Amino acid sequence: MNEGPSLLIASNNKHKHAEISQILTIEGRKISLITPADIGISLEPIENALTYLGNAQIKARAFHAALKAMPGSVDWVHTTFVLADDSGIEVDALGGRPGLLSARYATGAPLQDGCAAILKELLGVAPHDRTARFRAAIVAIAPSGAGFASEGVVEGEIATEKRGANGFGYDPIFRPVGSNLHLAEFETAEKHRISHRGIAIRNLLPSLFESINKVKFTHEHQTN
Ligand code: IMP
Repeated sequence: MNEGPSLLIASNNKHKHAEISQILTIEGRKISLITPADIGISLEPIENALTYLGNAQIKARAFHAALKAMPGSVDWVHTTFVLADDSGIEVDALGGRPGLLSARYATGAPLQDGCAAILKELLGVAPHDRTARFRAAIVAIAPSGAGFASEGVVEGEIATEKRGANGFGYDPIFRPVGSNLHLAEFETAEKHRISHRGIAIRNLLPSLFESINKVKFTHEHQTN
């Protein structure tokens, strides 16, 4: 493994791996992606910050530190960037819940299903009071330890039923502003064009790839 920069996705969530990979491909950005499992890192950092940005920083720093601690300090660690995503859905009629706790909302029996839990809590709530939004914070860290951060939001509302089979999490109950479709009915590229994660990652790409290209240039000159 000595082919220049790569990007470690600081998450064990397969849906996030897929979405980040899809967004980079759509944006025409080429870099080899690594998951924690690929390199034997098993880490569940405690996400106890009060903001999405704070939690994304916790995850990015934890995985960056784990990389640096890899046995023998293998060569490719010096050209590996880290990218973390922290995201969630905020429902206004629930005072912003589940928000930062979206991943762990209603996971206990008997509901097991965050979408079903929100639909139940909003029973009888009028359409104009069902406003909600997805938020994402993205933090990247260069091998040097330099950090990059960005955020994205998509506004919408909670529907009265689940629809669609694409995406993940709360996509089946979320209808973005200006659309009749639920997010889980969107084509992949169309979701990323409007989504919180698509917006946040696109915002970060120019500065992140400027840094990646510098590391690539230095690496090529050192190995030639
Ligand atoms: P965390 O960022 O790992 O704390 O988890 C974020 C949680 O928010 C996910 O597990 C999903 O439940 C939800 N979520 C975040 N982004 C999306 C999305 O794009 N679609 C649907 N649900 C999402």
